[in-house]
Amino acid sequence: MQRASTWTLALALFALTACAAPRKSNLKAPSDPYPAHTIKPMTGGPPPWVGQEMSWEKLEAINAWLANQGAASDPYWRVEGRLQLAEGRMRFYRNERTTADESINRQRISTARADFMRVKADSRASEGQLRRAKRGLASSANIKAKVPGRLPAGVMPRSRWGSRKAKHYNLTKAEDPWRYITIHHSALEESVSTVSTQSGAKTALRKMQKYHMDSRGWGDLGYHFLIDSRGQVYEGRSMHWQGAHAGRDNHNRNNNVGNIGICLIGNFDKIRPTAASLRSLKKLVLNLRQQHRIPSNRIRGHMDWKQTECPGEYLLPFVRQLARG
Ligand SMILES: [Zn+2]
Repeated sequence: MQRASTWTLALALFALTACAAPRKSNLKAPSDPYPAHTIKPMTGGPPPWVGQEMSWEKLEAINAWLANQGAASDPYWRVEGRLQLAEGRMRFYRNERTTADESINRQRISTARADFMRVKADSRASEGQLRRAKRGLASSANIKAKVPGRLPAGVMPRSRWGSRKAKHYNLTKAEDPWRYITIHHSALEESVSTVSTQSGAKTALRKMQKYHMDSRGWGDLGYHFLIDSRGQVYEGRSMHWQGAHAGRDNHNRNNNVGNIGICLIGNFDKIRPTAASLRSLKKLVLNLRQQHRIPSNRIRGHMDWKQTECPGEYLLPFVRQLARG
């Protein structure tokens, strides 16, 4: 009797353990922006925000969850919540840094860093979570050192002309101060009427970017800014990165270091630049000069760096005029 009851108890215990054992998790949500890590199955099931697409609503949901149900939840999910909050903020910083106020940019980075540090110091974080926290800290430290200012007023951010994602591994960080502004023309084959509409200009930008990335093998469009014939200014390569527009000098020194590249769309060996595009160029140059303390005599045409007709005979006189201040 004694023996039988021991067995019964053992069996019951076994069954209980089996029930309580973690279920095989199937939490592979393709819409989750962080599907790479394996989510370990835990008791209580995943919180409702797991697998949701990244959005401000999701970040708010995580925040609310951490303050309420999260407190009694499995530590794994609390760490995961904090981590996703930090990763989400970094993502919003990256996507909106050119249009958001600088104070918002700074706040996003510092809040994300604080959360990454909390995760890093949390003994309950899994190895994968620790790795993500360290990665997040490293990339946010890079940004913290150099948060770029807002785009000058009136500049259309690259996200609005259908820009491709830059290949950051193929770009050089702009670590030197900006000392020069160099002006180019695109010398595009397109007829004037094609690029004189906004959609035409956007198409021309995408085409130029494709050429720079796919045919020339660069990480992004070579110029930092572009201007169409209606005077619209577009963000090209982010000023996080050195440009690719001025080549190398006779001593193989890179002329792109500290050199902002501006390109007017059109062939100004054949046509005259419009008054609207020249007005925008002047305004942009003044803005950049003020922001980066660049003297007027550091305004160049491409031809000042290498043998080329760029920026074209009809644009060159205006470049010289800008250089006189
Ligand atoms: Zn040029």
